[in-house]
Formats: sequence, C-alpha cells, structure tokens
Amino acid sequence: MKYLVFLLTALLLPSAAQAMNTSYSELLRQISPERRAELSVPVPSAPETVKSVMPEQSDSGRYWVTASASNSRERTALLEKGLDIVEINSGSVSGFAAADTLRALSSEGLIASFRAISAARDFPSYDSAYHNYKETSELMQAIAAKNPDIASIFSIGKTVEGRDIWCLRFNTNAKGMTASSKPGAFFLGNHHAREHLSNEVPLLLAAWLMDNRNRPEIKKYLDSLDIFIIPMLNPDGVEYDISGGRYHMYRKNMSRNSDGSFGTDLNRNYDFLWCKYGSSNNPRTDTYCGKAAFSEPEAKAIRSFFAAHPNIKTHISYHTYGKQILYPYGGTYDEVPSEKDKKAFIKIGNEMAELTGYINRKSSDLYVSSGDSCDWAYKAHGVLAFTFELDGRNFYPSASEIDSVVSKNINAAVYLLSMTANPYK
Ligand SMILES: [Zn+2]
Repeated sequence: MKYLVFLLTALLLPSAAQAMNTSYSELLRQISPERRAELSVPVPSAPETVKSVMPEQSDSGRYWVTASASNSRERTALLEKGLDIVEINSGSVSGFAAADTLRALSSEGLIASFRAISAARDFPSYDSAYHNYKETSELMQAIAAKNPDIASIFSIGKTVEGRDIWCLRFNTNAKGMTASSKPGAFFLGNHHAREHLSNEVPLLLAAWLMDNRNRPEIKKYLDSLDIFIIPMLNPDGVEYDISGGRYHMYRKNMSRNSDGSFGTDLNRNYDFLWCKYGSSNNPRTDTYCGKAAFSEPEAKAIRSFFAAHPNIKTHISYHTYGKQILYPYGGTYDEVPSEKDKKAFIKIGNEMAELTGYINRKSSDLYVSSGDSCDWAYKAHGVLAFTFELDGRNFYPSASEIDSVVSKNINAAVYLLSMTANPYK
C-alpha cells in the first residue's frame, strides 16, 4: 500500500523537467528590459591604440590580431598559418591567434596591429541570459516532457569529457533513434565554444515550434516532417569558455593534444578535403584540424547521426558572427557538381537571406577552409546544408540582441521546413 501511494504520488507530481517553463515568450521575457539594463555588453575594447609587445617564445596567451589580406587566397593562407578569421574588411582581416601564430605572421610582415586578450570579463551578470549546458539540457528535456506525443530527446554520443550531446526530435510517430521515412530537417549549433548565440537560436526555435504547434501553417510541417535539433554540439568547450568567472574566447573542443595543448577545431575535423586548405596542423592554433578526419568524438557522433537518418534533406549549422549564409563548397573554389543542387542552394539561401538580412554566398567566396560539417554533409549524404554566421559585433552579444536574432532566424528556419519535402520545387 505504501508502495502504491508512493507510486501514485510519483505519477501525479510533475517532474522537475515538466514543471520548467518552456514557453518561447517567457524565455524571451526572462531577458526583460530591466534585466537588460544590468546586462552590460562586453564589446571588444576599442581598436588597438596601444602597441603591444611581441610575445616571448614561452607565451601561451591569445591575441586579437589584424593582418593584411585583400582576397580569398590571402585569407585562406592566413587561416592555414593558424589565424582564426573573425572579421573581414577590405585589405585586412581580424581574428584570434595564439602567440606562435602571431610571431609567425609578424616575421612575414603581415601584422597590422595586435593586442593581448587579457581583459577578464565579469561573467555572471551578463551571461545569465544564455543557457549553459545544464540549462540547455534541462530545457530540452522539459520541452520533450511537455509534448510527449511528438517530441523525444536522445543522446547522439558523448564528448571528450563524457557529456551527452542531446538531440531533440519532433516527429509524430518516430521517437528517439528510430528511423523514419519522413523528410528530415536538422538544426545544429555550437560547434565552436565561444559562439553562444549559436546555441540560443536552435534551442529557442525548439521552444517556438512547440508553442506554435497547433497553428495550421506550423502543424503541417510537424505532421509531415522529421525535425532534429542539436543546439550544443561542443558542451565541453562551452563550459570551459564560461568557467572561472570570465570568458576565455575559446573555440575548440577539449581533447588533449600530443604537445600538451588542448582542442581540435571541430569544424575542420570532417572528412572532406580534410586539413587541406584553411586549417592548420599545429595543435596550438585555433584552426587545428585534429590528428585525423573524424578523430574527435563530437564530429564522429555527427557522422553516425547522419548515417542513422538518411532521410535528412536540409540542414543549418549555426555559427557566429558575420551575417552570412554560406553554402558548399567551403573547402574548394569548385562549384557543387550538380546544377540542380546549386540552384537550390542559391534559391533557398537567397530566400533565407531576405528573411534575416544576411548575405547568401558560396562559402569559399570568403576564404577556403576544408573539413567543415556542411561540405561533408552535402558530399557524403547530399544534404542541402547551410552554414549561418549570425549577427553580432563580437562573440558575446548582449542578451538584448538575442530576441531579434532569434526571431528572424526562426522565420528562416520555418522557410527551410517549407522546402524540406521538396527542396527543388
Ligand atoms: Zn563557428
């Protein structure tokens, strides 16, 4: 009897996950105007006015570097020397570099300016609007718990440090890892640790879809498609990036390299022209491609995930920042071989550009960088895969920027859903 009472209580009491508020508007309201006032924006310090001293051999610090480059080939060469390009201007680029990279670029006379990244950015107040790994996982679980008829959550694998990589799935009849013949759409975020907004967009897209699931224009996609959302592929890197009360400007995963340094650039670890262009063999650089293609458990998990779901037709991989929509190839100047696919990339990309105010272009028009997830997904599985570089002026946009970026990107994602059953229409 006691057991029965216990059982009944357990059934009647909502679990912590079910009790959690999953409403899209409530999630945005949590970033209220009052909260925003206290969420000061960590804008990168003013352009380098103070000349920094060239780092010593023993320096393992990180630098914000502006280097000369005026075309795609010169930018690609900088990537290969280990510079992680973040901003592109006419005649120059800016981005992050380890001390080694900075010295190498400097010896070739390519450095216009640089400064050490040392400013500790007090973390708790303005980070609180973002979802860390635990909050992201709990919100995904709560969304699944509230919509058990259509939503399920499962892990696609574990990271280097043993965290589960969670996937939320919306499908009216297939749950978890079960195969489905419905056309699939896949939204993926946070390959790169410091790109926190790239987690928020797919995560809040999930909340928005469930809030609006009974609207006929959304219901028809939920009824007919297989929708997968993995907002945080690199939770180890994310947790490191926000650890210790400051941002670390960290990009890679947390695998230990043979020279004692940490991290592979996950978006250079896929097996299409792996490590050929725009990536580095030096483990200490931000663009390190890893020991081998698919050497990293996070990239391997994505490989197995695509293999298990050959019904996936369309895909967005979110990054920050730059207001760009990039379609394959990024690893070569070549066009994709199929004229039909190229037309679809241009048409669908242009439409999403219209909805977001971004620019749609072939990825290698910016620079060539091989081994990324979208090139591989297209090459290996024929998926119409887009890389989004979201808005922002830095990697830590204020919480107040989240809602406008999220809402227009939801429009683009819904448009992609509308094209998933027949991308060539
Ligand atoms: Zn990125």
